[in-house]
Amino acid sequence: MRVLLLRFGELYLKGNNRNIFESMLIGNIKKKLIGEDFKFSKTFGRYVISNYKEEDEENLILLLKQVFGLYSLSRAIEVDAKPETIYAEAEKVDIGNKTFKAIVKRADKNFPIQSMELAKKLGEVILENNPNSSVDLYNPQFEFNVDIRMHGKAYIFSETIKCQGGLPLGSAGKGLLLLSGGIDSPVAGYLIGKRGMELEALHFHSYPYTSELAKEKVIALAKEISPYVGKIKLHVVSFTKVQEAIHMNCLPEYMITLMRRIMMRVAESICEKNSLGAIITGESLGQVASQTMQSMTVTGEVVKRKPVFRPCIAMDKEDIMQIANAIGTYKTSILPYEDCCTVFLPKNPVIKPTIEKCEKEEKRLNIDMLVEECLQTEEIIVID
Ligand code: ATP
Ligand code: MG
Repeated sequence: MRVLLLRFGELYLKGNNRNIFESMLIGNIKKKLIGEDFKFSKTFGRYVISNYKEEDEENLILLLKQVFGLYSLSRAIEVDAKPETIYAEAEKVDIGNKTFKAIVKRADKNFPIQSMELAKKLGEVILENNPNSSVDLYNPQFEFNVDIRMHGKAYIFSETIKCQGGLPLGSAGKGLLLLSGGIDSPVAGYLIGKRGMELEALHFHSYPYTSELAKEKVIALAKEISPYVGKIKLHVVSFTKVQEAIHMNCLPEYMITLMRRIMMRVAESICEKNSLGAIITGESLGQVASQTMQSMTVTGEVVKRKPVFRPCIAMDKEDIMQIANAIGTYKTSILPYEDCCTVFLPKNPVIKPTIEKCEKEEKRLNIDMLVEECLQTEEIIVID
């Protein structure tokens, strides 16, 4: 029978919590494949998807490759774990003059033949039927893998397809992603999701300074990361009044820093109201003036009760772009619509802001009122 053999990685590390992690992963797999025709079964250390239509296989693989916590998968043949059925599969191998290697893993130590011996015999069978091929133990062009499990079944496969890895979505609580229209923040959301964190998202727009299209772009980005991070409740708020107030009252070089501090306060308040445990941004050290150590000190300082996670902090732009390409957000991110941060952009933003100077500038503003006004413009879009 044709099946998909699924492997999970890090769950092994979780001791007593492993069962919780595992049931989350299984729940996520089933949810991902909802509407598809298949049977799910669990063996020791592996999951098996079977009873699906062959023409659905590619789509199933595509979906499974989006599930955090799955490490790899193989298209496999399931047979009864008996020497003769395994030999029968080896007889079918047709590899012309390719080099090969037979690899046997035996979880079931009661299986009558030892792994090395079985591998050797399988090699002989394959060589006999493919006289132009040869064995290459180090860099074979074809692998004949036999995985003998504990429940009387063996799985035969030649390829291992890498999946996402990480931890099951939901196993690390839920956070608030500050989602701009840029390249970095969708990647940050994907990366933190990969560690098991579910997300809501927050976007600040500056309508009418920025166009409606800028908002559409952010909705599109949220839709693009949703296959990985699941359902996203997107909070969209207007930042226009805040920007106008800062622009009118404060030092231009502190514009971005003060904006960021208010963004963080709004974010923390949305976290409190929605029981979200962390704030996530796409910041990367040194990328721009607002992402120096000192800038992050003063923006982080206003957040009192939540951690601020910055998954891209130590990544080069190139590497962030590579992930954006792989997950499919890059093309949307580079669409040209203005971001709220480009409105009233100062010529020389401060690189080393201090908390004291920020507080001095903020005395010219009614911070609580600005935060409250911002929150009142909130619009919610659910992306599933
Ligand atoms: P990105 O590519 O994510 O926009 P960036 O390199 O353009 O990042 P900044 O514009 O300095 O960097 O923004 C730093 C972080 O602040 C973003 O990654 C995002 O998390 C948050 N952010 C910036 N602008 C907004 C916005 N309009 N709405 C929500 N979050 C924002
Ligand atoms: Mg940006």
